[in-house]
Amino acid sequence: MADAGRIKKECKNFEQMIPDYLEGRLSLEKSRMLIGHLRKCTDCNEEMEINYLLTEGIKRAENGETLDLKVELEKLISHTEHRIMTADRLKTALQIVGIAIVFAIAVFLIFRFG
Ligand SMILES: [Zn+2]
Repeated sequence: MADAGRIKKECKNFEQMIPDYLEGRLSLEKSRMLIGHLRKCTDCNEEMEINYLLTEGIKRAENGETLDLKVELEKLISHTEHRIMTADRLKTALQIVGIAIVFAIAVFLIFRFG
């Protein structure tokens, strides 16, 4: 494969984000990039599962609970996706409000000085 090297490098960046993501320290913007990549990269997906097993699995074991790895990880990821979606909607709403305000000011100025 011609661009295997490039893909590898990309994966390396994402793999470094995984522990931060699981600790909840990764920004929403970076989480979005990471999840987007995980959805199409099996290698990083496995890396995520291993990391999740190591962090969450140990916690659960200490509490005597079991961990359904795939199910729980999917839950965590869709929760993040939901947060990203909500943030996007909020951003869009704010943009619309911003446009409405500019429009209102323009209309005001036209009537005042026009
Ligand atoms: Zn990858």
